[in-house]
Amino acid sequence: MVGVEQPVSVVLAVTVLAAGAAALAALPAAFGRRVPALALGLGYALSTGLMLGLGFLLMQRALERTGGLLAVAAALFAALYTAWTHRYTGGDALDPLEPEAISAIEGYRLMIAHGLHAASEGVALGAAMALDLQLGIALALAMAVQNVCEGLGLASVLAARGVRGLDVAILVVFSDAPQALLAVAVFAVLPEWPGALGGVLGFGAGALLFLTLTETLPAAYRGGGRAATAAVVSAAAGALILLQAVVH
Ligand SMILES: [Zn+2]
Repeated sequence: MVGVEQPVSVVLAVTVLAAGAAALAALPAAFGRRVPALALGLGYALSTGLMLGLGFLLMQRALERTGGLLAVAAALFAALYTAWTHRYTGGDALDPLEPEAISAIEGYRLMIAHGLHAASEGVALGAAMALDLQLGIALALAMAVQNVCEGLGLASVLAARGVRGLDVAILVVFSDAPQALLAVAVFAVLPEWPGALGGVLGFGAGALLFLTLTETLPAAYRGGGRAATAAVVSAAAGALILLQAVVH
């Protein structure tokens, strides 16, 4: 990017802002409001569409750079890793749309699952920024929006456990912190390992697509219903793909 002398600082600032945006998800809890299941579901639908669009764009770039095999292998590895994190935390069996049904221990597990989810997103974001900083910053904005949508689910669970106000905001942002840390680390290291870029892009794409299909899309269908979820997912994914076409 022309005029930017310390891109690592730019990446740090943008990704911290994207993770920090999740604090907005604490607003309903701060005013003692419960977010209706329909709104949570449509939030997950918006998040799904953005992550699908992002995953598609990253996979396209990964295939261009690796000729296919490495990108597909890395995406498969990401899916296996993500499936393991679900098995380990049990996070995908917990439904944020029914926060009262989640016990205190399950709430902690959900936070760990949320943190691991955010870590994979950070790898994807760091690789996108290493490939093209301008594109990566545009994608970080999409990531900020989906952080708020997914944060609403986590905030509902915390509020149901009696956590209040600023504490909800801090915990939701904290669970997204791995996103910023991993994005900066991947962005800083990749220039020294240029041959790994295609593989890391493939990993990020595979993780985003698998997370979408196993976590956010099922939650979207449960809360938002089939037709509205399909409409929001398609519109968000399409808008993201159009956005990158405008950026370039
Ligand atoms: Zn996400």
